Amino acid sequence: MSKTTKAVAKKQVKTKASTKKGTAKKSISTNYVYAFGKKTDGNATMRDLLGGKGANLAEMASIGLPVPPGFTISTEVCGYYYDNGKTYPASLSKSVLKAIKQIESQLGKSFGGRSNPLLVSVRSGARDSMPGMMDTILNLGLNDVTVEGLAEISGNPRFAWDCYRRFIQMYGDVVMGVQARSEEEEDPFHEILEKMKRKLKVETDSDLSTENLKALVDQYKALIRKRTRSAFPQDVFEQLWGATSAVFSSWRNERAILYRQQYAIPAEWGTAVNIQAMVFGNAGDDSATGVAFTRDPANGEKVFYGEYLINAQGEDVVAGVRTPNAIAKLADELPQSYRDLEKVRNKLEKHFKDMQDFEFTIEGGRLFILQTRNGKRTGLAAVRIAVEMQRERLMSQETALLKIPAESIDSLLVPVFDPKALKAAPIIGKGLPAGPGAATGRIAFTAATAEAETRKGNKVVLCRNETSPDDLKGMLHSQGILTSRGGVSSHAALVARQLGKVCICGASEVVINYEKKTLTAGKVVLKEGDYISIDGSTGLIYKGMIESADSEVKRVLEGGLKANKSYTYELFQTVMSWADKHRTLNVRTNADTPAMAKQAVAFGAEGIGLCRTEHMFFDGERIDIMRQMILAADEVQRRSALKKLLPFQKKDFIGLFKAMEGRPVTIRLLDPPLHEFLPHDDVVRRQLAEKLGVPFDFVIDRIKALHEENPMLGCRGCRLGIIYPEITEMQARALFEAAAQVSKGKKAIKIKAEIMIPLVGFRAELADQLAIVHRVAAEVMKKHKVKIDYLVGTMIEVPRAAITADEIAHEADFFSFGTNDLTQTTLGLSRDDMGLFYDQYQSKEIYNQNPFASLDQTGVGKLVELAVERGRQTKPNIKLGICGEHAGDPMSIDFCHRTGLNYVSCSPPRVPIARLAAAQARLRNK
Ligand code: PEP
Ligand code: MG
Repeated sequence: MSKTTKAVAKKQVKTKASTKKGTAKKSISTNYVYAFGKKTDGNATMRDLLGGKGANLAEMASIGLPVPPGFTISTEVCGYYYDNGKTYPASLSKSVLKAIKQIESQLGKSFGGRSNPLLVSVRSGARDSMPGMMDTILNLGLNDVTVEGLAEISGNPRFAWDCYRRFIQMYGDVVMGVQARSEEEEDPFHEILEKMKRKLKVETDSDLSTENLKALVDQYKALIRKRTRSAFPQDVFEQLWGATSAVFSSWRNERAILYRQQYAIPAEWGTAVNIQAMVFGNAGDDSATGVAFTRDPANGEKVFYGEYLINAQGEDVVAGVRTPNAIAKLADELPQSYRDLEKVRNKLEKHFKDMQDFEFTIEGGRLFILQTRNGKRTGLAAVRIAVEMQRERLMSQETALLKIPAESIDSLLVPVFDPKALKAAPIIGKGLPAGPGAATGRIAFTAATAEAETRKGNKVVLCRNETSPDDLKGMLHSQGILTSRGGVSSHAALVARQLGKVCICGASEVVINYEKKTLTAGKVVLKEGDYISIDGSTGLIYKGMIESADSEVKRVLEGGLKANKSYTYELFQTVMSWADKHRTLNVRTNADTPAMAKQAVAFGAEGIGLCRTEHMFFDGERIDIMRQMILAADEVQRRSALKKLLPFQKKDFIGLFKAMEGRPVTIRLLDPPLHEFLPHDDVVRRQLAEKLGVPFDFVIDRIKALHEENPMLGCRGCRLGIIYPEITEMQARALFEAAAQVSKGKKAIKIKAEIMIPLVGFRAELADQLAIVHRVAAEVMKKHKVKIDYLVGTMIEVPRAAITADEIAHEADFFSFGTNDLTQTTLGLSRDDMGLFYDQYQSKEIYNQNPFASLDQTGVGKLVELAVERGRQTKPNIKLGICGEHAGDPMSIDFCHRTGLNYVSCSPPRVPIARLAAAQARLRNK
């Protein structure tokens, strides 16, 4: 290495570490560079510092796998780089020089030297792999001089010049920003290449001669000069620092930000940079490059899976320039290398104890491994691989449980699109994936159309700007629900998940025009009755019909398929039984009907944690009686309507108690603002007036009187029962009458009823409602001469309730955290109205996650912790649960476990996910 190159290297590393202004905010270690190769500094446990790729390269080097030597610049440097105006710590350049020297001496090559030049790759590597999201540069170290050296030493000038043109192209694109300037424009390097191929009338890159490649190099350089007004750098250290900075900068590119949001990867983690000696898969016909998985990542089967290209470099496989061959074919083409690869496959799985996705290069018949990571896989594959690896004794039951992303269980339960049909279907938009699964059907814009069409035997997807309780029936009849507004805890999402319906909400680019009866997505305009398909697992919306089917597991659970006929069910059952053995959190469900309750029990629910009684008032004639009750001008009229509602309510409760077969059932008293039950359009209002025998004006006047500016913060929750005690009384009576009836007779069921009062903020509110409940309970028990086991508790869903939980606990037998409202009221953020700004918040990474989907642990979570602590101060054995949407979210479940709750209560389809997540929480926090 020459003195001048050292000097340039120093110049390239602008440093601010010694200035006061530029001092790094957080203290970081002084070791920034970790070697791997003959001497290895790191290992697999150092992912935080070295990123996944760096840590695994170190690990592979230390277990003797053929890894080309190199070094990793740590993720701490990424933090420093951003905190200090894109500069580096002062000592970094020295450490990098030292590490380069180590590679040079190990390989007998020289970086920037002519006779036997060292070339390196510069690659990103975050803690969790983010495939393809950040930048990579290969063949770095080539310039007009070293290319001649490479040509001589390899005896293959064509190869040397091919490497050089590839390097200039990558460097020009990634580091110097020479790219297509609009969507219509071709990549300018690609354009030059194609032009040359056309001129020479050749098909592929490999048909280009050395002379052609040399000409290409000149043209590429000219392009860079023209576009950037600077020359392509000849100094190899300038190249190295340019590439390093580009990789660090790519941590904040648009793709990486989006990926981080999708997978909840914190922006603070940063990426490491891996610099590694190049090996060449394009050095001739005994060379190759490829990507392999130790098992099939799509279905989890234990087969060697992957693809490769002879005489090519890595990016050719990824870019799809040439079609790669299936890995099995390598056994014919390069048999020895295939055998070596098989050995590596086994060693990797045994050592890393997980399915690996690895990159390899064969240079002149010699195999090298360039990277390995735990392979990304589908939900089904995740479950299968964990179960089978445990059976093969590659991992313990505990590890196997922890390896399955809890959400994966869902993919074993939801209806699925036929994968072939899906590939061919045109995507027309995207929204928030709110209810997983696949749904296809005709577009219906109203609940009434949805119902009418289903009765005709048609399948429909209900498409609304947003849904309201009025739409419930339509939702029930639909295959899926698509809304253009609302978030993941909007009405549509919440109900869809509870019903196990496929749902996409907040598809803000979709315009629904009720008048014209059209749905417009970009240039596509669909009419009512046209077919549409939605994938609630990905949020993608497709034009037309795509075939789908019920999952095998669901068919077994519902009795339509024998358990021993389904391997998928066997996998599901295995994982669930392991999970139940390890978890301490109980899992209940949010269910309002016996059918939902039964489904939840089949999925493993241990009780009902929330029955929203208002959902029981929408069907058939109930809604009219309910409306009569709401419109009542005085208590007498109200009581008369309530009397008619009581038998319905009692029947529902009997159904629930029976379906739950002695498990605890939590019934929440009426919660939503009353006007939500009233019709919005005049035709229905007129019909209602006629049905009730009251003047139309009376209906209009009462609706006006009940109007509120902020109904979510208005007359709802326990406030309803306080101003209309007769409602609480009716509900309590229906409940205890039902309990009395079910707990007697031949098929008596032991009742565990839990009555829950919503939206309490003051101890006195709870006391007021409690008095009614206890009075009615005593009356019914006396009348029927039975003893009913019941508790009365409250939801904690406004900050005041959390703060005064010690006072409230005096009255309550249990708390259930209503984290939908608690999030809404703590963040001052409407559950239904975040669509307008959420996209921007996402791109600015203000919220790591949607706070209505995953609990804001540092904010709302603090209130939960406070309430737990204060509640237990007053009543050490107070029962604690959560019934907001977060109760089905694995990360929030982990929080609930750590906070010491007794149970989580989620929608029926999420019960299996919650069982697994609860077990994982226990294992993680042991
Ligand atoms: C909650 O607020 O978290 C809750 C479960 O109640 P609802 O969603 O019905 O307001
Ligand atoms: Mg609530």
